[in-house]
Amino acid sequence: MTALHEVAPAKINLGLTLGPTRADGRHELVTVMQPVALCDRVRLTPAGLGAAEDEVHCPGVTGENLATAALRDFRARTGWHGAAVRIDIEKRIPVAAGMAGGSADAAAVLRLAARAAGVRDDRLLREIAAGLGADVPAQVRPRRYLATGAGERLHALPDPAPFGILVVRAPFGLSTGDVFREADRLGLPRSGAALEARSADLAAALAAGSPLAPGDLLLNDLEPAAVSLRPELQWTLDEVRGTGADHALVCGSGPTVIGLFADLELARSAAVALSGREPRPVAVEPWYPFFMPDLTP
Ligand code: ATP
Repeated sequence: MTALHEVAPAKINLGLTLGPTRADGRHELVTVMQPVALCDRVRLTPAGLGAAEDEVHCPGVTGENLATAALRDFRARTGWHGAAVRIDIEKRIPVAAGMAGGSADAAAVLRLAARAAGVRDDRLLREIAAGLGADVPAQVRPRRYLATGAGERLHALPDPAPFGILVVRAPFGLSTGDVFREADRLGLPRSGAALEARSADLAAALAAGSPLAPGDLLLNDLEPAAVSLRPELQWTLDEVRGTGADHALVCGSGPTVIGLFADLELARSAAVALSGREPRPVAVEPWYPFFMPDLTP
């Protein structure tokens, strides 16, 4: 083995319905998780001669990396004793932006470790992923999912017809925990019955591969909480609507705002219109399972 490569696509949430808090402290929710073609690059190579421990190198991210935990949990659950490895992560997904970049990297590391160890068991990978975080299981085999539970119960949806996504990052981060706490303070969570109804409506609306559900099913219940913590996000939402987006919403717990367009060209024009913003907005399209490029040099 010289090197194994994986891409780790970011995700957006095409709407999010928030429900009650479960016994484990996590909120129930219903959301459509859509991977997008904005990807970190993740590489696995043998660690240096004499290295006893796995290493993760991820410029731009400080503190313990979720990829380190992924490798550790993979070894513990599979009993894989292969020689120490080195993981290199090239970040392109904005950090702490509500686009699940850390989860995407952790899932990519699980795929890499499985390839290195000769493990072919997606169910096991998803179990390990669930222990790492609510957004990780959906990234083990990225595709469009209807996610329920706390995000860990996944129902695969058909690939959508292409559409355009404008990604507008904020110059600040928002802690996911803070946004959920603010949502509780504002009394935003809905009843379990409302969640079930929303889940059924979304599954029906997207069953035939429609790019987007109708507007009322695209609402993000966390948006008022994110805006309450950072009122300037309301300006960003208005700015994105002003570019002609069919829909503008906060992505997950924010602070990233997304604009949805009929095609990539329209999203690109909107990115140009907002190019004075810092960080500069980008236009992307959905990520499809068949996009996985061969990155072997
Ligand atoms: P969440 O999944 O909680 O919604 P997010 O999508 O907003 O998070 P991430 O980019 O995943 O944001 O980063 C959340 C935090 O996780 C960061 O503050 C960072 O310190 C930590 N982290 C650990 N590993 C990684 C990684 N590989 N990439 C990015 N952040 C990481």
